[in-house]
Amino acid sequence: MSTTLKSPRDSLINNIGYVLTLLAFPALTLYAVTCMTHYDGALAIPNTQFWAQVDPPTLHSSAFYLLWFVFQLMIHIFAPGRVVRGSTLADGSTLPYKLNGLFSFLLSIALFLFAAWLGWLDPGELYGQFGAFVSTANIAAIAISVVVLIVGRRQASEQNRQVGFLRAYVVGATLNPRIGKLDLKFFCESRPGMTLWILINFALAWQQYQLYGYVSNSMALVCIFQTLYILDYYVFEEAILTTWDIKHERYGFLLCWGCLVFIPFTFSLQALYLVLSPVDLSTWSVIAIIVLNVVGYAIFRSSNLQKHWFRKEPERRIWGKSPEYIQTSYGSKLLTSGWWGVARHTNYLGDLMMGLAWCLLCGFEHILPYFYIIYFTILLLHREWRDNRHCAQKYGKDWDEYRQKVPWRIVPGLY
Ligand code: NDP
Repeated sequence: MSTTLKSPRDSLINNIGYVLTLLAFPALTLYAVTCMTHYDGALAIPNTQFWAQVDPPTLHSSAFYLLWFVFQLMIHIFAPGRVVRGSTLADGSTLPYKLNGLFSFLLSIALFLFAAWLGWLDPGELYGQFGAFVSTANIAAIAISVVVLIVGRRQASEQNRQVGFLRAYVVGATLNPRIGKLDLKFFCESRPGMTLWILINFALAWQQYQLYGYVSNSMALVCIFQTLYILDYYVFEEAILTTWDIKHERYGFLLCWGCLVFIPFTFSLQALYLVLSPVDLSTWSVIAIIVLNVVGYAIFRSSNLQKHWFRKEPERRIWGKSPEYIQTSYGSKLLTSGWWGVARHTNYLGDLMMGLAWCLLCGFEHILPYFYIIYFTILLLHREWRDNRHCAQKYGKDWDEYRQKVPWRIVPGLY
């Protein structure tokens, strides 16, 4: 992050941007969820009457969220897990990370189902208080970001402490704020948010069953696809350590809110929509959507693994042949065979195919269930652009050579 002095006018504009971000992001989730719960998924005009329907936090939603967060924290800290070292940091050091996400995920699901079966927990309440949960999670993310700021400021370099307060709060003061061994970014990136997303889906499927006496094939597939997506995430948890977020993003409100609020409450919009508008898909639609999801997954997983293994074991064969690559003057090797020879980000293509499959399950009546694929396409297009700029700076003419050899960015033959 550059800390060069900015003019007072630039600083003012930046600060206005940060304040707008702080207001707009929570408002966006509240808007989307309220449209789903009060307007059956139709886009409503966000006037004062609309905002009056937004649910404030309740005692129940606050207690549940607090318990949930502390429970996830406890499992992360106390459950056993393999400790691995992350990518090399700018000062040449590496940080240890405990990988027990899969255990945490499976335990959370098992306990949730067990508690629901015994009647200790009413999954329908998650639906009944959905708006209140979103408000609660937003407030929690704002508060946790304050802790992140305090810890981050203390651990930031002298130079990064010069960054303005608002910028440090919104974008982050440092890369890896830690309390003892607890890495706040690594923990919040997955555990409280991603696992909650799946439990919310289950609760919504349960609610659909309560209302109609059956679970639609579309709802069942949403739950299965997204559960497998998160299961895959935890099975390959180590690969998170080399993702852009962990390696390059400072940890502040943006990432914290994204993981604690945006992921669980907007990625579950398809299931939320299906509660009140069950879609019964024809057999051919089911087959087509399953094929789209499975092919997308195969591309997504195999391309990510090809890069992961290539970086770990450069001799390992890809598609039955020795890997081809460009040896950069920076030192790293750029893979040019397998998926990485087809387009420069086929891993994004696979992810987008899966996202599209999830949205198609909701039919074509409303645009809001397609929120995920619209947002995700924008995110990944921007990410590809940003990654391209990053690699061009890092690898110079070697990156130009790679771009010549592999001209397609994401979709071979199209983009
Ligand atoms: P990538 O895994 O694509 O990593 C990009 C980095 O890989 C580059 O910066 C470069 O890093 C290295 N690299 C680029 N080209 C090559 C090559 N040819 N050979 C070897 N190394 C190369 O990016 P992300 O971290 O953005 O994405 C990881 C996965 O996470 C993707 O599948 C994406 O779809 C998914 N994702 C999902 C999100 C969600 O919300 N569901 C959000 C964001 C991502 P280096 O400096 O090491 O060379």
